[in-house]
Formats: sequence, C-alpha cells, structure tokens
Amino acid sequence: MIEDMLRTPDAVRDAERYTAHNYHPLPVVISSAEGAWLTDVDGRRYLDCLAGYSALNFGHRHPKLIDAAHAQLDKLTLTSRAFIHDQFADFCRELAELCGKDLVLPMNTGAEAVETGIKVARKWGYQVKGVTPGQANIVVAEGNFHGRTTTIVSFSTDEDARADFGPYTPGFTIVPYGDLAALADAIDENTVAVLLEPIQGEQGVVVPPEDYLPGVRRVCTERNVLFIADEIQSGLGRTGATFACEHEGVVPDMYLLGKALGGGIVPVSAVAANADVLGVLKPGQHGSTFGGNPLACAVATEVVRLLATGEFQRRSAELGARLHAGLQSLIGKGLVAVRGRGLWAGLDIDPALMSGREACERLAERGVLAKDTHGSTIRLAPPLVITEEEIDHAVAQLAAVLAG
Ligand SMILES: *Cc1c(COP(=O)(O)O)cnc(C)c1O
Repeated sequence: MIEDMLRTPDAVRDAERYTAHNYHPLPVVISSAEGAWLTDVDGRRYLDCLAGYSALNFGHRHPKLIDAAHAQLDKLTLTSRAFIHDQFADFCRELAELCGKDLVLPMNTGAEAVETGIKVARKWGYQVKGVTPGQANIVVAEGNFHGRTTTIVSFSTDEDARADFGPYTPGFTIVPYGDLAALADAIDENTVAVLLEPIQGEQGVVVPPEDYLPGVRRVCTERNVLFIADEIQSGLGRTGATFACEHEGVVPDMYLLGKALGGGIVPVSAVAANADVLGVLKPGQHGSTFGGNPLACAVATEVVRLLATGEFQRRSAELGARLHAGLQSLIGKGLVAVRGRGLWAGLDIDPALMSGREACERLAERGVLAKDTHGSTIRLAPPLVITEEEIDHAVAQLAAVLAG
C-alpha cells in the first residue's frame, strides 16, 4: 500500500513526531515543483490536483511570479504600513480595478480577510445603517468554511472545527445554504451583513441553486444589508471567471480574497469594497504588520496582471468542461455525484467502495495528489496551467482507482 512506496519514512515520522497533529497529510515528502507537477525526495513525480486548496491557481513557480518575487527580494521586503512603499499603490489600484470596487484593504491570510470583513460590516452597521449599539448580527450558512480564528469557528457547523474552542463570539445567525426564504427570514433590523461562499469549497464544492445568489443580492439590497462574498477559494479564476459570483451576474458589496492572490509564494489576502463601506475604517482602527508588505504586493500585482489577461479564467472554463465531462463518465462506475464549476470538482465516491482518504491514497500511488474533504467526498482543484492531456491522465487514474 502507500507505505510501501515510501523510501523516506524518517521525514514522515519526524513530521508526525515534532508537530501538533492538526493535519493528517498523505505520507508524501515533496521537495520541488513546477507548473502542475510535484516531485518528491526520491524523484517520484505527482500531478497536483489540489493546488494548495486553490492557492496555486497559476501553478507552482510561475515564471512571472517567481521573477517578481526575486526582483523584490533584492530591493525591499518590509516597511510596515507606518511608511508607504513603492509597490503599494499599484497593487491596490490594480486589484480594486479587477474587483470593480473603489478600495482594497490588504491583509495576509484568508481568515484575516474574513475577520476584516466582519469588523467593517459591524462598523458600517453602527455608523451608516444605524443598528442598535452592540447588537449587530451577520447571517451565515450551514456548512460554511471561512477560516480558523475563534470568531470564525464560532459560526462553523463543523463540530471538529468548533467543539471545545468556546466561549464563542455572538452575533451570527446560521441558515441552511441555498435556502433563500430562510435567509430572508433570518434578517432583522440589526443585520449588517450576509456572509457566504458563492460555492462552498470545503463542504465538497457545493454549488447553490441557480437563483440563490441573485436572490441573496436582491434581499440584501432591499433590506440594506451588505452581501459579503467569501471568494477566497472560489475566486481568481478557479471557476472559469474572475469571481464565482460572476456566473450568476451578481456583484457583492464586499469581496474577500486570499489563497491564489499570493501566487503560491506569499500569504496575501484582501477585502475589496466601495468607499461607503471600507471608508468606515479610520487610522488606528484596524491593521496588520505584514499586510500589504512590498514582497506581497510585488507578487500579488503580478497575479492581478495575469488575471487581467483573462487567459486563466478561459483555461479554467475550457479545461473545466473537459474535466467535468470525464468525471461525469465515471458516475455509476464508482462515483455517485460530481459537482463544481471550471477546474473545480467535488466528487462523492460510492461509500461502499472506499473512503475519500483511501481514494486519495490510491491516487497518490498512481502519481496523482488530491485531498478528501469529508467522508467519501474528494475535491479536485488542479492548477489552471494543467493541460488537456494531464486532465485526461488524472481522470484515467481515478477511473483505475474506482475500478479497484
Ligand atoms: C481557505 C479559506 C479561508 C481561510 O483562509 P486561510 O488563509 O487558511 O486563513 C476562508 N474562506 C474560504 C472560503 C477558504 O477556502
């Protein structure tokens, strides 16, 4: 089994021995990568079908991103926001333009972008909407994944993510995902925002009903509530558009971005919104030592420029169609359901056959790396630089695994 293929058990054992067990990685030890391919310490190659949970949308070590990072490393890496550096304005302007918003606020991790969104929405609620002091609430969805901070896990419905981390932050109302009537019912006079993933990635790439996001947009506008779209995993090309919301013609009040924004090189996240929303923050009210640092801005500006060409969105749409056609052909042959959009797929394996974990282990033996989400569900999210042949290869390996 998978243990047999490991010729470097020390690195696996030590990774277990000296770290908290907050992950259960596949026992492969990667030492280099390029494009869609990873190489382990023994020279074995793997097709990357996870892409760092979409942090590697442009593949490993995209030449333009690596060049930008190298050039910036030789000039300036950190100033803190106490001073302005020469990479800052271009990044903010180009990202704001990509998002079609007035302003951006750069942070580092996705969870920080979510926290920033929550803080801004609450402040907007008190200062602009006029909600009762101390009573702001935000409507969120069952099955959400927005990160790991104490506030964010307070409104998780995944017991693994939430249990024993209380006391929990109040001010969140949880409604079923995809149920517009429930969402509208949950909104009251103190609701400042609805916070949703346009496609729920960690939940298994769950796509809501077609009329859901436009309905959420309509209800938010009618009730004077901010629509915050967490596009940290769904955004920046993954679904065949810059933002997953675009497929439904929906423009949220606030985008939360992360993962791919850092080009797989540095953690970069951001909140994008118009001035009537993000403008509520004044000096001293929010910040981050590393947020918007020169190295991050240099890399992320190149990411924005790659996206501005539209090439990656196009690739994701076209190659995604091929991926989904291939996966659909496996329904009844070990797969019971396939969901997703673009180069993003959630697969439910027949639970009688094997768990998602087992499928991923067997895929790894065949040189394809993917990750299970829950139970018998696995997620495929290859880098958008993957080729047609490589997609066919991944589907063929999956077919072989399912065929036993
Ligand atoms: C990964 C993710 C986050 C959290 O990002 P981190 O960088 O891990 O903090 C938030 N929301 C969504 C939808 C994500 O996929």
